[in-house]
Amino acid sequence: MASVTEKRREMCVRAAKFRRSLLPYGRGRAGSIVLSVSRRTLALDSRFAAIRMCYDVRIPTQEAPIVTLQEEFDRLTKFIQGNMKNKFAGWKVMRDRFLNHFGGTADSAASIGRANAYYAQLVEAKFPGEEFAKPNGRLTPVHPRLRERFGRTVALLRAKGVAPAALSRLKSVGGFQIRENANNANELSEHSFGCAVDLDPELNPNIKKKMLPVSIIKHLTGLDPYGEHSEGLRVAAPFDALLAHARALTAASQDLVRAFSSSDALRASLHKTLNEQFDATASLGDLAELEGLVRSPTDSKQKVIAKLTTLGVPHSLIADAELLLRDCFGLLTKRQQEAAPRVQGTAASVAAFGFVNLPPELIAAMIAADGGGLNWLGSSRGTKDFMHFELRTGDKPPMHG
Ligand SMILES: [Zn+2]
Repeated sequence: MASVTEKRREMCVRAAKFRRSLLPYGRGRAGSIVLSVSRRTLALDSRFAAIRMCYDVRIPTQEAPIVTLQEEFDRLTKFIQGNMKNKFAGWKVMRDRFLNHFGGTADSAASIGRANAYYAQLVEAKFPGEEFAKPNGRLTPVHPRLRERFGRTVALLRAKGVAPAALSRLKSVGGFQIRENANNANELSEHSFGCAVDLDPELNPNIKKKMLPVSIIKHLTGLDPYGEHSEGLRVAAPFDALLAHARALTAASQDLVRAFSSSDALRASLHKTLNEQFDATASLGDLAELEGLVRSPTDSKQKVIAKLTTLGVPHSLIADAELLLRDCFGLLTKRQQEAAPRVQGTAASVAAFGFVNLPPELIAAMIAADGGGLNWLGSSRGTKDFMHFELRTGDKPPMHG
């Protein structure tokens, strides 16, 4: 039988040989090497055996510590490199924020190892099922947890008998990219980790609170985009409780588009608004006259106020009414110059194409406790991101391994 000393020496030799065999991959290329399970098992077994037998022997190492950003970037898998916004240039600016999700910057090699393992888990979204639609990005990478939520969403829509109506019109599913949060550059977007999805971004824009024509929407549609319906969609309530809120929002979006579809339509909408909300007794002819005054190149504020007074608008409401008329006809002019919807919405693009165009059943099912259980940024209290659904904070997958 071999003595303990001989055995230990033999293990030292094996360990040293193994380490030498890894040297060509030790710097830069390790991230692109794919080892089979048996090779990985062998490698780990050798290392642990060496540790067990050689605990008191120091083996000189030639493996250099990671020193440059390029070396770090090279250690990321090709998948991560390829999906990082601006590739290596992006790594240079996002490196710290990225590594902090995977254990920190102190031991970047270990954090990169965890990141590589994390991204290896991502799967194709496959949302919705092929039988409904084949939108762009249907196979976008997502975390398995998010795909599971998509499955629950579709199952709920099927159970409610509305799956084809809710899913067959989708044109685009996606957003996966390792990048900064569009609304907060200090953080990486949830899209970076496959935990979020954007649906039909152009017709469901991202729009800052100050850009959204909130007052106009309230007056012309009766809905406050930051009011009870938005609040109601912030919680993962049952589908049936959420559907009415989602319907109210989508209906208001359609009403807004209708009101700004033509000069006639806007006058008709304002006619109703002035009479119902500002106690006026106006005719459609009065609205044509008011539009002419508002659009006059000379300062017509006093004339508009005088006209509103003759229409019976009380003094306390005159200033608001005058401002509403001016804002609406001004927006109509801008809206008429909008040729195509925008992912980054403006007041004019929203007036032209609406702010939310997803089927209400789909919105409700994505959020519902009995469906996807996702967080919808269309219900945000600040910048609205009507396209964006993400895993709720407590549902996000671990990244530290
Ligand atoms: Zn998004």
